Formats: sequence, C-alpha cells, structure tokens
Amino acid sequence: MKEIKEENSTNNEMGKRSVRWAVVLFYVYLHVLGITGILFLFTRANWITVFYFSFLVTISSIGLTAGAHRLYAHETFVATWQLKLFIMLSHTLAGVGPIQDWVFWHRMHHKYYCTERDPYNHKKGFFYSHFISNLLSAPSDIETYARDIDMRDIETDGYVWTQRKLYWILFIVFGLLLPINAPVEYWGESLANSFLIIGAARLMITTNISWLVNSALLVWGLEKGAKFPVDDNSVFFLSKSYWLNYHYVLPWDWKNDEFGTYETGFATFIVKMWRELGFINEMKTATTDDVRNALCKIATSETTLKEALAEIQKNAEAIAYREKLMFHH
Ligand SMILES: [Zn+2]
Repeated sequence: MKEIKEENSTNNEMGKRSVRWAVVLFYVYLHVLGITGILFLFTRANWITVFYFSFLVTISSIGLTAGAHRLYAHETFVATWQLKLFIMLSHTLAGVGPIQDWVFWHRMHHKYYCTERDPYNHKKGFFYSHFISNLLSAPSDIETYARDIDMRDIETDGYVWTQRKLYWILFIVFGLLLPINAPVEYWGESLANSFLIIGAARLMITTNISWLVNSALLVWGLEKGAKFPVDDNSVFFLSKSYWLNYHYVLPWDWKNDEFGTYETGFATFIVKMWRELGFINEMKTATTDDVRNALCKIATSETTLKEALAEIQKNAEAIAYREKLMFHH
C-alpha cells in the first residue's frame, strides 16, 4: 500500500479547474424538480408509475455499476455483443454522459487516487468528492496527463463509439421522450407527474448513483482502525467494510461491489446471472490461494507488495482465460 501511495504521490500538481455555472444551475434545477418528483411519487402517482420508476432506476443502475464500472472501466469480464448493446442503452438511460467520459474520469480517479490530480479526491471530503468535483471543468492541463490514461480498449469499442457519436439523440429519444411519454400514453398518468417523476426524480437518482461510484468509499468505507467487524455492521442499508479500499488495490476483481460488499450485492447478483445465461466470460477475481501465496512471499521478503499484486492479477487473468476456453468447448 505504501508503495502504491508513493508512486501516486509523484507529479502531484493539477491545472486549474473552474466552476461550470451552467452545470451548477442545471443540477440545482434537477434536484429541486427531482425532490418534488419524489414527493409526487409517494403522494400522487399511479401504482404502475411507481413500479415503472423503480424499473427504470434499476436498469440504469445496472448500466452504471456492472456496465460502465465493472465491464468498461476495469475490464473485470468480457461481454457478448448483445450484453454490450444492453449496457450501452441502459447507461444512456441513466443520463450521465457518454461511457467514454465516465470511464476516462474513473480511470483517472484510480490512477491518481488520493493525490491532487485525483478528480474525486477523497481527502477533500464527501461533499467535494460527490458534488463539487462534478461541477468543475476539466483541469487546464488535462491533455498532459490524459496521455497517461490508457483508453485504447474503450476507443475501439463499437458500442461506446456509437453512443458517443449519437449521445444526444439517443439520450433525448430513449432516455427522455419515450420514458416520459409511456405513463401518459399507456396508463393515463398526468404529464406533470410523468415529467417530475420519470423525468426529474429518476435522473436525479441515477446521477447520484453515478457520482456515488466515485465517492462510495466515503459512505460505505470503514475508517482506518474503526472498531467494526468487517461486513457485519449493517445499519439500514449502510454495510460498512474495507472492500472499497480493496477495490482501489485490485480494481479488476469482478466480485467487488461498488457499495461495500464482496461477492454479494445487487450488481454482483446481476453479473452472476449474466454468467449463467452465457452473456459474459473471462471473469477475473483474486483466488484465496494466490492471496495467501502473495502474503507469504511478502512476509519472507521474497517480493514487494507491488510485485505480489501484479502476480495475483496475472494468475487471475490466466484462470479467466482458461475458463473462457472451457466455455467454448
Ligand atoms: Zn473503480
């Protein structure tokens, strides 16, 4: 861990970022209208609208967590074209901009984690990481260190490319007009209700889910030395753990949930389901044996932490590849 921090702490400065006031205004409106929409959801909406709202939020959140985060940002597994198409559309429905931008900023966050160059710098607190960072412009020297972020896999992905080229058309049609029109057209919901609930409230929730993927550690993560049993202190939906810290060390592990659990959680369940249905393969995860071997080698000073982590990743990739071959035969 020490070595990782040391490596990240070099070359710390970041160019100036300014407040994008038009974006601030947009999100203020979205949140005011969205909160009104949530009130309407509980007081005035048709029951079908409530189910429809939950359905759309669920689909969008799958596109964000299992899709943009686990598949695209960290390549924790390989997906078939049908699944990629689904992820592209469900991510568009979430209304948080193209996958390419999302992945770029998330990879930057991982590469420069907790340094001045980290766009969602956790050291500056939850409010900065979750809200402020999303309202600021890109740093003035973005071009310089964007070169250090490897985006070749994303830039050559046809679904990501199509989404980026047609983003506004796709979002306005599939993410806005069709979803808002459906309740009015098919079960007689009022246009005002549909606009506030399916338009504003839904996008407010999906935007916050997207932002949470970058700030989750500050909500679900345990503080160093905290006296809680790991994974055993559920308070309402807050199941605090160290798994978020784990994600910043081994981000390619598909089992690591965005919101503090390991091998459980909703997005993980969806990924497991995709595996059973044959939509994904080459799933990378750290095995207990590899972790134990790595710890043993570190303890006997045969290897450094950095080398040990690289070895765990290499073994995980080899196992994933073998599974892919078995899947084909
Ligand atoms: Zn990540």
